[in-house]
Amino acid sequence: MEKVKTFTLPKLPYDYNALAPYISEEQLKLHHDKHHQKYVNDANALFAKIDESKAANTILDIKAVAKELAFNIGGHLLHTTFWENMAPPDKGGGGEPSGAIADLINNNYGSFERFKKIFSTAAISTEGSGWAALSVHPCIGRPLVMQIEKHNVNIYPNFQIIMALDVWEHAYYVDYKNDRAKFVDAFWNVVNWDRINKNLALVK
Ligand code: MN
Repeated sequence: MEKVKTFTLPKLPYDYNALAPYISEEQLKLHHDKHHQKYVNDANALFAKIDESKAANTILDIKAVAKELAFNIGGHLLHTTFWENMAPPDKGGGGEPSGAIADLINNNYGSFERFKKIFSTAAISTEGSGWAALSVHPCIGRPLVMQIEKHNVNIYPNFQIIMALDVWEHAYYVDYKNDRAKFVDAFWNVVNWDRINKNLALVK
C-alpha cells in the first residue's frame, strides 16, 4: 500500500491546559492549532505543487521550493518533537533526567546543572526566531547542542535531534511577553525525560 505522502497535524499527547502554569491553555492552543497547523498546511501545499508540476511535465523553481520545503518541514518536525518532549508536571514532566539520557548528560557535560545552563543559554541567545535542540550522532555518540535559526539554519547534518525547545516569540508571548529567559526557565518544569530517553534509544 502506498503511504499517504502528506503531513497531518499530530494531536498533543496531553490536554491544552495540562502544562499550565508553565505554558497556558491559550498559549498552547494558539501555538499548536494555528502556528504548527500552518507549517503542515504549507508543506502539504508544496507537495501538491510538486505533484502538479509532474502531471503538467513542468519544472518548478527548485531553489525557491527547496528553501520553502526546508522551512515548513523543519517547522512541522521540530514542533512534533517539542510537543512530545514535554509532559505535565503531575505526569512525569520536569525534575532531573534518569537512565541513558542522565548518563549521556553526566558523561559529556559533567552534571545536569551544567548541561541545563548550556542548553538554556543556547535557547536564550538564539538570534531572532529559532530553537535550541540537543542532538546526537549515531556513529560517534557525541551529544551536541544545536542553535537552530528559524526552523532550518545551523543544523548539523545527520545529527539526530532528541530534544527541542521552541524559542520563537509565538511560543511564549501570551504567557511571558518578551521575557524569553523566563519561558526557558519554565520549560524545565515540563521537560519529558522518559520521551527523550526513547528518542535517544532510537539513535543507536
Ligand atoms: Mn513554534
